[in-house]
Amino acid sequence: MTPLIGILALQGGFDAHAKMLRELGAEVRLVRVPEDLEGLDGLVLPGGESTTMMLGIAREGLAEPLRELVARGTPVLGTCAGLIISGRDRLGLIDIRVKRNAFGRQVRSFEADLDFVGFDEPVHAVFIRAPWIEEAGPGVEVLAEVDGRPVAARQGAVTVIAFHPELSGEKRLHAAFLEQCAAAGRRADA
Ligand code: GLN
Repeated sequence: MTPLIGILALQGGFDAHAKMLRELGAEVRLVRVPEDLEGLDGLVLPGGESTTMMLGIAREGLAEPLRELVARGTPVLGTCAGLIISGRDRLGLIDIRVKRNAFGRQVRSFEADLDFVGFDEPVHAVFIRAPWIEEAGPGVEVLAEVDGRPVAARQGAVTVIAFHPELSGEKRLHAAFLEQCAAAGRRADA
């Protein structure tokens, strides 16, 4: 089965995710209105500018449909601004409190190799005006840290990461996400 993955495409870096997911064999649909969420096996919330993205989500009436998609157990992967909008103070898809531009602004963009739960080899991470996770609820598992600050986490089928694997050629996180989507699809069919 070829998984059908939606990518929120109101603003920001959706193209790089689309390219990587297609290379990994997924079918991709750009999501701009609630109807675009129908029938998806997974959804990516890309990086960009979280305030602009939230305005677009409000304008298109996407907030509630996005919450419903998560409630149905559809896997979601949020990167950078996608992490920010998933947090408690915005869409509330995952129980985390987020600090925006936590490492500083443009000058504090950097790269690092991170230990990441579930991967034997370090994950190469590109951070661009990245957030970190200030506080995580009890149901949240931290997957990676930088200097003791959580930069990746998971709760249920929602995974958020503060960096940009889609920009560094780091394909393993997207590959794992596609496997998760396929498994969720099989459960739904059973
Ligand atoms: N700093 C941006 C924001 O706060 C996020 C940056 C990114 O997605 N690379 O929305």
